Amino acid sequence: MSHKPSNKNQLYKICPVCQRRFDWRKKWQKVWQEVRYCSKRCRGNRQIINRKGTNEAV
Ligand SMILES: [Zn+2]
Repeated sequence: MSHKPSNKNQLYKICPVCQRRFDWRKKWQKVWQEVRYCSKRCRGNRQIINRKGTNEAV
């Protein structure tokens, strides 16, 4: 019985809004690839950093 994420490199992500690391959660196991923000709050603030495809330092 293994419910670990298949990709060990994806155990955490960096939230593009608050620049903080957030860890994989079980509730995200089915949507982890789509998760980009650490919280609903940051998800709501994503318009602040509305740049797609750019990785330039702020
Ligand atoms: Zn965040």
